[in-house]
Amino acid sequence: MTAKIIDGKEFAAKVRAKVGEHVARLKKDHGITPGLAVVLVGEDPASEVYVRNKGKSTVEVGMNSVEHKLDADTSEADLLALIDQLNNDPAIHGILCQLPLPKHLNEELVINSISPEKDVDGFHISNVGMLSTGQKSMVPCTPLGCLMMLRDHLGSLSGLNAVVVGRSNIVGKPMANLLLKDSCTVTIAHSRTKNIEEVVRAADIVVAAVGRPEMITGDWIGEGATVIDVGINRIPHPEKEGKNKLVGDVHFASAVEKTGAITPVPGGVGPMTIACLLANTVTACSRANGLEEPEGLTA
Ligand code: NDP
Repeated sequence: MTAKIIDGKEFAAKVRAKVGEHVARLKKDHGITPGLAVVLVGEDPASEVYVRNKGKSTVEVGMNSVEHKLDADTSEADLLALIDQLNNDPAIHGILCQLPLPKHLNEELVINSISPEKDVDGFHISNVGMLSTGQKSMVPCTPLGCLMMLRDHLGSLSGLNAVVVGRSNIVGKPMANLLLKDSCTVTIAHSRTKNIEEVVRAADIVVAAVGRPEMITGDWIGEGATVIDVGINRIPHPEKEGKNKLVGDVHFASAVEKTGAITPVPGGVGPMTIACLLANTVTACSRANGLEEPEGLTA
């Protein structure tokens, strides 16, 4: 079987273009420019790169980007005061607090202090609850990106057998809820799942979010299944000494022989995450102003 390789980079570019069109309409027809505020506490180099990329992508689609960089020893009270100020700022439609936070800060408390309507990461407990009860909510970016790619490739997901491997709060659980909302029959597999290979083999859709390099091999995959590989793992490069290589949670070379379609790593789910952050920001801005939501950019 020749598998389709789902090109996340190309798809993310389309999503960003759609966001850009909607932003242009908001500006032209309503004089509104969506604004995203990103808060970074401390100097974690990886987080600094993410925040820079988010800011750059935000400006590229015509939205306003505001960055707040706070010292690593910022007190919880000062961070909460900043979030309160952003919650009350009508020019800010999305707020993202880059995780992980320094150890002395209570992550749950901080996330739950963001207005649910501005919580573009979709991690606020109200958004988690609304997603799990099938209500309109802000949806975490990575699972939203996976859902968009699945809908684009398969059309209706109704009745399909979906297996999500991994039960984290940021990927596995919201992914399962989104698939359920699209009427899939959903199984969540995790480290205690018995006969996991058999469970995965029965799936029409496999979403792998495990964090274990190339764990899911071709013999786990049912003929013609659609595979979305969320994993990002750095392993020593087999040919280049001293260099690293990025691989997913799926063993691409063997899986591609069985799948109907598969996302590569890199270039699959990764690029969709920032694109969906932009999508969530324009959605939040439209909702805040009582305007029509952008089509195809929400769950
Ligand atoms: P977590 O570590 O929070 O969760 C991993 C999940 O995998 C857990 O539920 C765990 O089960 C399960 N698991 C671990 N080992 C096994 C095993 N041997 N068999 C079956 N299940 C297992 O990871 P995240 O959800 O945060 O991330 C998963 C992957 O996705 C990582 O590689 C991460 O880097 C990547 N990622 C990529 C993003 C992107 O933008 N592309 C964004 C976010 C994450 P249990 O609960 O039982 O311990």
